Amino acid sequence: MKRLVIKIGSSILASAEQGLNTKRLHAITKDISDIADKGYEAVIVSSGAIAAGLKKLGLKEKPKDIKLKQAAAAIGQSSLMWAYEQGFAGFHKKVAQVLLTRDDITNRLRYINAKNTLFALLSYGVIPVINENDPVAVDEIKFGDNDVLAALVAGLVEADMLIILSDVEGLYTKDPKHKDAELIGSVDEITPDIEKIAGGRGSAVSTGGMYSKVLAAKQATNHGIPVVIMSGKKSRLLANLLNGEKVGTYFKPNKERLSSKKGWIAYGLKSKGAVYLDDGAVKALTTQGKSLLPSGIIKVEGHFDIGDAVRCISKEGKKVAKGLTNYSSQDIEQIKGKKTSEIEKVLGYKYSDEVIHRDNLTVV
Ligand code: GLU
Repeated sequence: MKRLVIKIGSSILASAEQGLNTKRLHAITKDISDIADKGYEAVIVSSGAIAAGLKKLGLKEKPKDIKLKQAAAAIGQSSLMWAYEQGFAGFHKKVAQVLLTRDDITNRLRYINAKNTLFALLSYGVIPVINENDPVAVDEIKFGDNDVLAALVAGLVEADMLIILSDVEGLYTKDPKHKDAELIGSVDEITPDIEKIAGGRGSAVSTGGMYSKVLAAKQATNHGIPVVIMSGKKSRLLANLLNGEKVGTYFKPNKERLSSKKGWIAYGLKSKGAVYLDDGAVKALTTQGKSLLPSGIIKVEGHFDIGDAVRCISKEGKKVAKGLTNYSSQDIEQIKGKKTSEIEKVLGYKYSDEVIHRDNLTVV
């Protein structure tokens, strides 16, 4: 255990009335500096820009108007960074601001550039502070909330753990407002029941609520990365957690760690379409680690090009894998069910034997 992604929510760092809670933020920088001194590498995903900007704009809650929200983010982001800068300077730590949109994750080249930059920062002992680039992000290129962003960043930097700091102690059996609500210590698998328990959206300043935290935990654990949701309002909890004490709710990873590339295919990319497979192809992909050949494809759905991400679906309609296709939907329409040796005859060219090579395929 070495590299940690620590997500810090808006509700811990700021409120519309008070603006940025610098005291709390500085307490967190102390906790993170303590663990960094013990040899851990920390990558922070921090919300709070919009909330910090609201106060400066004299607004009491998050505006519905997207332009205003983006303006608040632009105003608040510099205050947020300044507070991190000052907080960490007290412990002789340097920070760097990295702002991302979903485009930076879906575009392979930008994804790799972001990764190289983050690794370079870590190699210099600098603590990256990542946020969504809200002022330029409109719907199609938005992560939605920083919980999703944090799960993607955990995959991007090949984190050993994702820690989500929240305004509650973890996931409870029911809304923690109820007296008999109990903290769930650990979750082996994120079932639909667990998702239901987490139901409900965020507060006046935060975006996601517990539901989006659990979905982020699901994404990271499917990636093979353990997740802890815990309170960000109490000091020293991070050190306690890393000393092996029980803190918050632990989500067990349910898979071997995916390589960064396979994680990127599974979670970084949006699918452009789907191919339906016969039973033999499903077995070849899911249990034998094989590539997808045209002979196993029975149906194509959507319009996609070479290099796009497509879902692989069984006859029963179950999603079994996702991968990067070597042929467009039009071409697959013509070669589906055919032998590899027939590709060139049918299309007049052959790009490769496989429709999806196993190196570009993630079984889900
Ligand atoms: N990126 C937003 C901000 O910094 C927060 C999104 C979220 O709350 O998840 O204010």
